[in-house]
Amino acid sequence: MPKVRHTLNEDVGDPKEWTFTWEITDDVTLGSACGFCGRSEQRLTYEVVRGADSHWICQTCVARYPVKGYLDGMQLDPISTRDQVHGLTARIKQQTCQEAIRRLQGLTNDPEIDEILVYFDRNLQLSPRRAARLFAALPLLAEPFDPRVFEIRTRSAEHQSEYGSLDETSRVLIWPALSSVQRRRMIALGYAPAGVSIPPRNGRRSHVAPQKLPERRMPALSEPTILNREKKSFQ
Ligand SMILES: [Zn+2]
Repeated sequence: MPKVRHTLNEDVGDPKEWTFTWEITDDVTLGSACGFCGRSEQRLTYEVVRGADSHWICQTCVARYPVKGYLDGMQLDPISTRDQVHGLTARIKQQTCQEAIRRLQGLTNDPEIDEILVYFDRNLQLSPRRAARLFAALPLLAEPFDPRVFEIRTRSAEHQSEYGSLDETSRVLIWPALSSVQRRRMIALGYAPAGVSIPPRNGRRSHVAPQKLPERRMPALSEPTILNREKKSFQ
């Protein structure tokens, strides 16, 4: 496999000269691009500025480069900067999912969707059965909404067999929202929809930053602790 280098665009210069504005874009079509490294198909991008210049950068670049952060006029140390980014990230991911479910609730008047919202508020993820119901309703939204925005619970045997017990159409509907690890598990259990192939063991991102996958460094949406912190500078 050819090695893909993770390089900065020429106009970026020294990443240390850039500062977070704390603005985050949550692109539910996963169609954003990174102004630092150029990676496309991004969901979350973070605004950084240097004088009059600004860029929106991807999670990998956020994790990799020492972009500065200020709160109340004080420069944060790198750990606090990262904490701030993580907290805002968890919050915006949660808000995006909640808003989508609420909009579907308004469009369907389906008590099942009401229950899904309650479930999501408690777990910050969807069970396979609830994901199937919600994803079937997603086309009702006027704009495209990528199901990968939602996380699906498959850790427990109960949720795994819940996925396996769904009909073929539902399993196909949920499949894109499963991570490659989750997909491999479902294939091993014989629950995968017909015709799907085993994803490569090394995902596209692993050769870019093997030690610094943003998925690992960013808190899972299901980690509630950071959400409880007050973020005075946000909103
Ligand atoms: Zn990037």
